[in-house]
Parts: sequence; C-alpha cells; structure tokens
Amino acid sequence: MKLTQFLSAALTLAALQTNAQITDPKATEVWEPEPRIVTPGDDNRAPSDAIILFDGKNTTEWVSSKDSKAAAPWTVNSDGSITVKPGAGDIQTARSFGDCQLHIEFRAPEVVKGEGQGRGNSGVFLQERYEVQVLDCYGNRTYSNGQTGSIYKQSIPLVNACRKPGAWQTYDILYTAPRFNNDGIQVSQGRVTVLHNGIVIQLNTEIKGTSEYIGLPKVSAHGKAPIRLQDHGDLVSYRNIWIREL
Ligand code: MG
Repeated sequence: MKLTQFLSAALTLAALQTNAQITDPKATEVWEPEPRIVTPGDDNRAPSDAIILFDGKNTTEWVSSKDSKAAAPWTVNSDGSITVKPGAGDIQTARSFGDCQLHIEFRAPEVVKGEGQGRGNSGVFLQERYEVQVLDCYGNRTYSNGQTGSIYKQSIPLVNACRKPGAWQTYDILYTAPRFNNDGIQVSQGRVTVLHNGIVIQLNTEIKGTSEYIGLPKVSAHGKAPIRLQDHGDLVSYRNIWIREL
C-alpha cells in the first residue's frame, strides 16, 4: 500500500470512529454564518439585493459598446421596454461583472421578418465574450448550436422553449466566470445554467471560450467585464433586467 493510500484509509477509519461517537443530533447543526435575508420580488421583479440594470425608463446603467462614454443608443418605449436600434451597435452595462445571476426579458418582433439566423436575432454576452443566443426559433429552424438559448456555436440548448413572436420571454442565467492564474492561464472554465421561460435549457454548461461566428472559441485571460446586448439588425426588445453578483 502506498503512503497516500494508507493515509486515506487511516483518515476514513478515523472519520468512522468519530461519527460513531456522535449521538447528539445537535452536534452536527451549523448555525454560523447565517445567510442574510433577501426579499424576493413579485412577478420576476428584482429581489431586494439586485442591481436593477433596466427598470423600464432609466438607461443610466447602459452605454454604447462602440464608445463606453456615450449613452446607450437604443430606443426606450412607453411600455417600459428598450428596443435595438439597427445599425446603432451593441449596448453594454457601464459596470463590470463576474459570477452572477442575471434576469432578462426579451421579445422578438410580432411581425415576422426573415428566417433562420435573420429572425429576431440578438444576444446576451456574458463578460462581453460569451453569447447566450437570443433568436426567434418558434417554428424557425436554424443550426442547433445557434438556436435560441444556445451558447452560440458551442452548446445546443436541451429543448426549444420559445414562445410565439411578439410574446415576452425570460432568461434566468446563472454564471460562473472562468478563472485565470497570474500567468494568464485558464485554471477553470466558465460555466452557465440558463432557464428559458422557466425551463432549464443549459445546465452547468462549460464555456469553451469566446463566441465566434467564424472559427473556434478563443481563450484569453480577463477580469470582470460588462454584460453586452447585441444589435444584429432585428427589432428585438428587452425589459426588466436585473443582476445579482454572486
Ligand atoms: Mg445573436
């Protein structure tokens, strides 16, 4: 038996002996630390500890991706949504984020125009790099690793949970950022879980690298970075966007 095997066996035996000596159920109760209280929101609204990224009116949390000093160039509507302004470019959060829980609602145009990737295309980029695809895939076939809720060209969603064009839909995204050491080497991959309209479509999916239209994902070190929303030329709208840092 190798030393490491011996030590492992000895530790297991010690744990069993210790466990056998525990007779009081209170001995295994852990009281500290106590999780802090968060008040949940109603109807998908932000819980008490969330950063509200878009409340229906205010776009101060957003900037243009072309020029981070310029205001978000998209159209704010009277119904509390914000719509892509085709050609104006992507928008992104003024703040940077790492691990997070993100809630975002989106709507493809009710009047269907185009097909495949040309129908209700936008995207939620985590840390500016990793795209959770936004697309209208209700009765609209495209490549599976590019459909609604794919990690674009990396991971096919488990199911197609799309609502009809014109209907509001939700993404709840749980994201663990990749880790890099001081030499810039990735020591753990990013991971993402996505619920589309409350249905799990990505479960702890490993992120391979950046979302690339052509070619393979790239890996390079980065720190916290903004959430980016894509202008793909379609009139996709967003509303009720909030984030909790984890
Ligand atoms: Mg897209």
